[in-house]
Amino acid sequence: MSNQHKSTVLLEHHLKQLKLPTILKEYQLLAQACSQEKCDYQTYLLRLCEKELADRQKRAMDRRIQAARFPMLKTIDTYDFAAQPSVNEPLVRELLRCEFIDKKENILLMGSSGTGKTHLATALGFAACCQGYKVRFFGCTALVTHLLEAREDRQLQRLLTQLEKQNLLILDELGYVPFSKAGAELLFEVVSRAYERQSLMVTTNLPFENWTEVCGSERLTGAMLDRLTHRVHIIEANGPSYRLEESRKRLARRKKNNNQD
Ligand code: ADP
Ligand code: MG
Repeated sequence: MSNQHKSTVLLEHHLKQLKLPTILKEYQLLAQACSQEKCDYQTYLLRLCEKELADRQKRAMDRRIQAARFPMLKTIDTYDFAAQPSVNEPLVRELLRCEFIDKKENILLMGSSGTGKTHLATALGFAACCQGYKVRFFGCTALVTHLLEAREDRQLQRLLTQLEKQNLLILDELGYVPFSKAGAELLFEVVSRAYERQSLMVTTNLPFENWTEVCGSERLTGAMLDRLTHRVHIIEANGPSYRLEESRKRLARRKKNNNQD
């Protein structure tokens, strides 16, 4: 084996051991580019490190997005504020900076079905993942089922500890299905543990006065609302359903096309 070949094999082995996959992939091409540009050794090393770091950050971000389990990947770029003028755009833009997470503040997205609450919650959660925060998205009903099952399997503490590790918990669609007494109590446990330690984001179609209908007891609902709304940003979406508007437009287009035929 030539000396050159031996050092290549060793170098690649060390890079693998050191878990530097990007440097391993790029070092030869970048060496050629740097020699053409007459860069010094330090610049070459710096560029390699920058590439490794950027890739590592990208991989970590992708992992956080995966771990958040968003039901669909929606970002703010595809949210049409003009279609929903009731939504406070400056507030949403401010929240996208995620300072609310550092301050352990909550967000409530309120409004009727189809007004883009889940879309906005996902977009805010996505922004948080990009900025290094741990996020977990749950449908409220699914979370409550998960909590009840975990309790049955004596895994409740484990699940609650997992939830506590997140910086932001998104609880989507509170209000469509009423909870059992045990379910409501477990949800309260999550809200109460998160209080001033994590941020919660809740989307709901229910005005506050109707929360007792899904949570059951008035006392528990009061205590839950108290914690959720102590430090909260409220985003209201009161306009028409985007889904309905879209279908209406589609139907109108089809009718127009049929009339032209
Ligand atoms: P909600 O959770 O309020 O019921 P969704 O967020 O599920 O509503 O919105 C329903 C569909 O309409 C989704 O596909 C969403 O991306 C889309 N949508 C809603 N509002 C808007 C909007 N203002 N701009 C772009 N898409 C929207
Ligand atoms: Mg929704």
